[in-house]
Amino acid sequence: MRYVSTRGDAPILGFEDVLLKGLANDGGLYWPETFPQLSEDQLRGFVDMPYVQVAAEVMYPFVADCYERAEWDDLVKDAYKHFAHAEVAPLRQIGAGEWLLELFHGPTLAFKDVAMQLLGPLFDRALERRDRHVTVIGATSGDTGSAAIEALRGRDRVSVVIMHPHNRTSDVQRRQMTTVLDGNIHNIALEGTFDDCQAAVKAMFAHESFADKVGMTGVNSINWARVMAQTVYYVTAAVALGAPDRAVSFAVPTGNFGDILAGYVAKRMGVPIDQLIIATNENDILERALKTGRYEKSGVVATDSPSMDIEVSSNFERLLFETGGRDAGAVKRAMSSLGQSGSFTIEEQALTAIRTDFDAARADQKAMSAAIKQVSSDSACLIDPHTAVGIAAGRSLPHKDGVPMVYLSTAHPAKFPVAVNEATGQTPDLPPHMADLFEREERFTVLPNDLGALEKFIADAVAGDA
Ligand SMILES: *Cc1c(COP(=O)(O)O)cnc(C)c1O
Repeated sequence: MRYVSTRGDAPILGFEDVLLKGLANDGGLYWPETFPQLSEDQLRGFVDMPYVQVAAEVMYPFVADCYERAEWDDLVKDAYKHFAHAEVAPLRQIGAGEWLLELFHGPTLAFKDVAMQLLGPLFDRALERRDRHVTVIGATSGDTGSAAIEALRGRDRVSVVIMHPHNRTSDVQRRQMTTVLDGNIHNIALEGTFDDCQAAVKAMFAHESFADKVGMTGVNSINWARVMAQTVYYVTAAVALGAPDRAVSFAVPTGNFGDILAGYVAKRMGVPIDQLIIATNENDILERALKTGRYEKSGVVATDSPSMDIEVSSNFERLLFETGGRDAGAVKRAMSSLGQSGSFTIEEQALTAIRTDFDAARADQKAMSAAIKQVSSDSACLIDPHTAVGIAAGRSLPHKDGVPMVYLSTAHPAKFPVAVNEATGQTPDLPPHMADLFEREERFTVLPNDLGALEKFIADAVAGDA
């Protein structure tokens, strides 16, 4: 498979180059040239297979130029060995025709592990083949940083530097990062906000001599490998509920649009998906965009579902590219308008296509909290605030009879004990492997929001790793 940039000016690359690069040179995102097709017989055959076997088969056409099949199977098996549930992404019924797809059984208790755990072995393999060392530098407000750290800890050819805003993450989120003491993991608590952390990462990427010296790369959700890994659970869930002989719908709590985009890819590969519901919290730019045809920034507000408190959904650019007939010029115009005026109008052809495959709904804090309470009393199951946004938004739209509705459950409730307790009076327990989180030793370095100081710290730390 070859990959093209959504902005049309970067070289066409193979899978491993796309994996190591993250963002394309022209500022665009890589996207497969074609969608491999899953036949009905193939889908029927998945019913009795373990998750890792389906995963290897679904993803192989995207990577076949870079790995022998047996080698690929081993990499995928290696990726999912740290999941606490044998099925990796089990379904749980919560009502008539309604299921939760539990994506939080990985090491850091959020769905980001499903993709990030695969990135670990893939980075190792690619770097060994090229005899290279890289430094993953990232900013996090919570879930992404810990998922990256868990996936890359202890790996010889990767240094990891994660910046979080000092005193501005939850204790659980910070400790999930700072109690990982492997030598290649470096946590920085930046004296500033999450936006300051992100701005610092961008500045370092732009500072070419620094970026080259440390071999800087990123693993944020615009990395194609992450979207690819997420297509798998749409396939396994649909098949378990009757595909290819019955269509299935999904409601997805959405921030950067990576997770739901993976559902769209699964549909394009031949999985019969009826509705794909974009669920947003008060940060509803996508819900407004589908309704009005205008994508328009309006400022971010903080909610109890912080991983969805995002104003610009980076992965939406890929959908614009695809639904606009792969017209890189139109994508460039839209992105330049977004940069200059904070908005753009979605062109007619793209808007019609997007509305054919997607619905969107918004759920505010009150609706989110009511959904946590409702699910708890209906099925004695505690859900996290992100999952609850998906349920509240999904239930607010009309559904077709006889089409199962799957709600993506993106985080373990114990990651967000305060919101869960407010809604139900119950406090969810951390799972056994994390029960001692608050007794573990922490290690991090507090640094000022100063590019020179950050770069010096990182260069020294990385020199010690290599
Ligand atoms: C990242 C995240 C989301 C949003 O996923 P996107 O791919 O950014 O749309 C939803 N819920 C949780 C718990 C997350 O960590």
